[in-house]
Amino acid sequence: MSAFKTIDDLGDVTGKVALVRVDFNLPMQDGLVTDDTRIRAAVPTIRDLTAKGAKVLLLAHFGRPKGERNPAMSLSLVVGAVEKVIGKEVMFVPEVAGDIVAQAVGILRPGDVAILENTRFWKGEEKNDPELVNAIAANGDFYVNDAFSAAHRAHASTEGLARVLPAYAGRSMQAELEALDKALGTPVKPVAAVVGGAKVSSKLDVLTHLVAQVDHLIIGGGMANTFLAAKGVDVGKSLCEHDLAPTAIAILETADKSGCTVHLPYEVVVSKEFAANPASLRTCNVHEVAADEMILDAGPSAAEALGDVLKTCRTLVWNGPLGAFEMAPFDAATVALAKTAAALTAEGSLTSVAGGGDTVAALNHAGVAADFSYISTAGGAFLEWMEGKELPGVAALSA
Ligand code: ADP
Ligand code: MG
Repeated sequence: MSAFKTIDDLGDVTGKVALVRVDFNLPMQDGLVTDDTRIRAAVPTIRDLTAKGAKVLLLAHFGRPKGERNPAMSLSLVVGAVEKVIGKEVMFVPEVAGDIVAQAVGILRPGDVAILENTRFWKGEEKNDPELVNAIAANGDFYVNDAFSAAHRAHASTEGLARVLPAYAGRSMQAELEALDKALGTPVKPVAAVVGGAKVSSKLDVLTHLVAQVDHLIIGGGMANTFLAAKGVDVGKSLCEHDLAPTAIAILETADKSGCTVHLPYEVVVSKEFAANPASLRTCNVHEVAADEMILDAGPSAAEALGDVLKTCRTLVWNGPLGAFEMAPFDAATVALAKTAAALTAEGSLTSVAGGGDTVAALNHAGVAADFSYISTAGGAFLEWMEGKELPGVAALSA
C-alpha cells in the first residue's frame, strides 16, 4: 500500500477550512433517513477535525441528479439526521463553490460544521472538471477523503481535490485501507478467499485476480455451478453460465500454475423448486444431481470441510454467499462457514475481511458481522479493490 497521510499528520489547523468528502448517499423514505450507518461512519473524522479547531465543510453526492439541481436530492434533506448523530448544529450551504461558500466560511467558527450541496448538481463533478475542482478548492485549506465507497470514481470531490490541496485520509477511509491491506495487500499467509454469489460473469475479474494472490480459493453459490459444469458435472437445472466454461477452465489452470488450491462443493443441497423448505429438498453428491434439480447450497459436510480449510489459514477475504441464503434452508452453508470464520477470528488465528451487499446481509443474518475483523460496506469500490484495481480516489491520496 502506498503511503497516505492521515488526520494524525495535520498540524495546528485552528480556523483552517477542511473540505471533507463523506458518503452521505443515505437511504431515505418519505423524507426521512432510514439508516444512519453512513453518518455514523463519518463521526470519527468530523470529531477529530472539529477537536483540532478546523471549520469542517462536508462534501457528498446524493442520488443521481445528473448535473442538475433537483430539490428531491438536495443534501439539505439530511442535515437534521446528521445533527442528531453528531450532536451539534450543522449549517447547510446550497452551493459547493463561490461567494456563498466563502460567506459561510466567514460565519463559521473553529470547530463548526457545514454541509455543502450535492456535488452531483454540477456537471463538472462526474467529469472531474478542473474548473469545478479549483472553484471548490478555493474555499478550503486542505482536503480529507472519508468516502472509500466513492473512491473507485475519479470525480472532482473524490479525486480532483486531492490533486490540488494537501490531502488526507479520514478515519473511516484509513480503517478501510488498513483492513484491506491486511487482507490482500500484505496479508499473513496462508490466505483463503471465498467467492460466491450468483454469476461468474459478474465476478470474472475478481476470480482472475484472486487465483494469482491467494493460497485457497473457495468458490460457492451459483458461480460454483459454472465451474462444476465446465469440469463435466451435470448440474441439472441449476443457475449456470455454460458459455463461460472455457473461462472457468482458464481460471482453474491459472490457479494451478500459481499454487492456488480451488475448492468446489463436492456435496450439494438440491431442490426441484426455489421455495422455502421445499418438498423436493435433498442433499446429495455433486455427481448425483438429477436433470430437473437445482443446486441451491453447499451440503453440510462440504461446508464443514471448507471450515477445515479456514482453520489452516491466517487470512480470509470473503465476497459472495455460498448459496441462495435469502431462503431457508439454503442459508445453511453460508451461516456455518461464517460462524467458523467468526470463531477463528475471535481466537486470534484468522484475520477476516468481508464485503459485498448480499455478503454483508448474509453475515448479519448469521449474526457474526461484528465478529469479523472488518466488514466493508463499500459495494462497488470493494469489488474493484478485490479485482486488484487501483482506485483513483485512493491513488490521489497517496500521490
Ligand atoms: P454480493 O452482493 O455479496 O456481491 P452477489 O450479488 O454476487 O453477492 O450474490 C448474491 C446472490 O447469489 C444472492 O441473491 C443469492 O441468492 C445468489 N445465489 C447464491 N447461490 C446461488 C445458487 N446456488 N443458485 C442461485 N442463486 C444463488
Ligand atoms: Mg449482490
